[in-house]
Amino acid sequence: MYTFNPGPSQVYPAVRQYLAAAFDEGWLSVPHRGERFTALVRQTVAELKTKLNIPQDYFIFFTSSATECWEIIAQSLTERGSFHLYNGSFGEKWCDYARALRPASRGHQFELEEVPDAALIPDDAEVVCITQNETSTATQLRDGAVLNLYNRCQQLGALLAVDVTSSLGGIQLKHIKADVWFASVQKCFGLPAGLGLLICSPRAVARARELGEKGHYNSLLSMYEKMLNFQTTHTPNVLNIYLLCRVLLDRAPIKAIDQHLRDRAARLYQFFEDNPQFSPLVQNPDTRSTTVVAVQAAPALIDETKRRAAALGLTLGNGYGKWAKSTFRIANFPALPDVAFEQLTQLLTTVQA
Ligand SMILES: *Cc1c(COP(=O)(O)O)cnc(C)c1O
Repeated sequence: MYTFNPGPSQVYPAVRQYLAAAFDEGWLSVPHRGERFTALVRQTVAELKTKLNIPQDYFIFFTSSATECWEIIAQSLTERGSFHLYNGSFGEKWCDYARALRPASRGHQFELEEVPDAALIPDDAEVVCITQNETSTATQLRDGAVLNLYNRCQQLGALLAVDVTSSLGGIQLKHIKADVWFASVQKCFGLPAGLGLLICSPRAVARARELGEKGHYNSLLSMYEKMLNFQTTHTPNVLNIYLLCRVLLDRAPIKAIDQHLRDRAARLYQFFEDNPQFSPLVQNPDTRSTTVVAVQAAPALIDETKRRAAALGLTLGNGYGKWAKSTFRIANFPALPDVAFEQLTQLLTTVQA
């Protein structure tokens, strides 16, 4: 049984054993102001920095989800509003949430095959928001594209905030080239949902201090002050932090995971390029995602493929929005073993509408 759904997604098999260990070791009742908990947070933060190549001077915070991070950025890092570049549902939803809190927030939608131009960023931008890996459209912004946007942000004195919910932990990211990165653990970390990670540059924290916004339990400044002592503003998801720590300790450095996922994505795209019945939804190889692959076919074949896959214990991700009937999505996440992809491609060579 494997799920290729891009979130909630396949969890590591070892999670079963870690859950039992968490219970046996008393983590489920551990006080979140005590030394045992703060030591766990300290270790988890250190392990995240080591395994994901996050600069030592960046700050890491625990949230409940990526959605919560959207709100934290709007409430704690913008005064007037943010500027959003998006090409799919998650990026658009982020813009909607920002607008609800800061009505002056604006967005610009770009095409699946397009790399957004840094010149689109308005001169008065406070925070520029991008979705590095857009899970709904299976597109990705490469390092060079993020760098161009970051350079423009630097010129304007704006912060760059990057949604990496479906790529953090899967691919290597140049963390110094943006101010805010965030994700939740139910995608590339192979864990159950209910925990988000918010990674901030010193510049982002300085901006939060300058704005001094402390009106919410999850105001970035309050979170920062607590995190100086490896604590959180409220009782956090201790179980998931524990699971994250265990999974990280087991994991290869991001460089190795990145290479593995890239090779697997290249094989998948090649498979669909060569297949007469299926084709990648995204035509431009430079805007295709490494971690989420969207596949296009006749709707009847999509249906039949999902049905046949389910009979084999393989769950495919549904298409999103206007591609709901004409595509399916495949998560290329680290917790899925190569054998799952072998089973899937074997099935795809035999399926017929
Ligand atoms: C899944 C996803 C989210 C939402 O994550 P939650 O943990 O449900 O808040 C946001 N952005 C992207 C790109 C996603 O893939």
